[in-house]
Amino acid sequence: MAEANAAYYAARDPLGAAGDFVTAPEISQMFGELTGLWLADLWQRAGRPDAAYAELGPGRGTLAADALRAMRPAGLTPPVHFVETSPALRARQAERVPAALWHDDIAGLPEDRPLLLVANEFFDALPVRQLVATYSGWRERMVAHDGAAFVPVPGTVPFDAAVPERLRGASPGSIVETSPAAVAIVRGLAERIVAQGGAMIVIDYGYDAHAAGDTLQAVHAHAYADPFAAPGTRDLTAHVDFSALAQAARAEGAAVAGPVDQGAWLEALGLSTRAAMLAKAAPDRADEIEAARARLADADQMGSLFRALAIVAPGWPQPAGF
Ligand code: SAH
Repeated sequence: MAEANAAYYAARDPLGAAGDFVTAPEISQMFGELTGLWLADLWQRAGRPDAAYAELGPGRGTLAADALRAMRPAGLTPPVHFVETSPALRARQAERVPAALWHDDIAGLPEDRPLLLVANEFFDALPVRQLVATYSGWRERMVAHDGAAFVPVPGTVPFDAAVPERLRGASPGSIVETSPAAVAIVRGLAERIVAQGGAMIVIDYGYDAHAAGDTLQAVHAHAYADPFAAPGTRDLTAHVDFSALAQAARAEGAAVAGPVDQGAWLEALGLSTRAAMLAKAAPDRADEIEAARARLADADQMGSLFRALAIVAPGWPQPAGF
């Protein structure tokens, strides 16, 4: 999954109507603006420290550009750091935020100041490991090639001890997922936030409590595809285990708020008010603005599938919207 996604992102800009999928910042400027104001409010109440903005997997740089524009009137004009591995997307990001500094991983982020961190639809792209229940116990799910195609098969080594006890009795065929890569990144960033100050907002689709289930999926040209076919040419994702990320952050001593529904979080930050202001300024676009608001926040659209989780330095104020 890691290698397939690295190849996939390195070669293309997958976002937008002509690509494979659309994300919240590409739907409306309101998403990045409210995310920027969420950070600016927290930073203001924390005493306006000399902080850096950092984003993981910034896509086209749209969220960052909208967030930075919204922060400026509050007096927040931080240096910008992007963690991005794709050369194709780095080039797009440079068009939107020319002054950014790029890093291959979180180790390159500044160590001398509070971090204001954003990760939208980043963690779902990180590799998962799957364990599968068989009649002879739990095994890791491996990828084999049967001569014609890649297929998932149970490995030969017993993995029962790696399955949480309350899920161990699940019937044969059941699948349990973990993402050691996602947990390691959250642990590393929470450690930085505790030591340096700052906060992180994680927004993604996922679940609150670890349950059995296979969420590995592939998307190609806005439709679901076989995740084992044509590796490196379609977007592979898995749902994010927010309970595992929250636990990793708490273990490092950070404060955690949420997860809450994306819709509830955006509405608490003033999404409807912002939509009304934009519609007043451009009455001919009122329907389009309302459609974007609904797409971001309504429960039958992105509003409750997507969740928001905040990780905050101890001693920093309570974040808005939770
Ligand atoms: N946040 C953006 C883009 C989401 S797509 C938006 O909301 O529109 C996922 C992003 O994460 C892409 O920019 C991709 O290149 C990047 N990415 C995926 N795996 C990564 C990894 N292991 N390290 C750094 N960036 C990664």
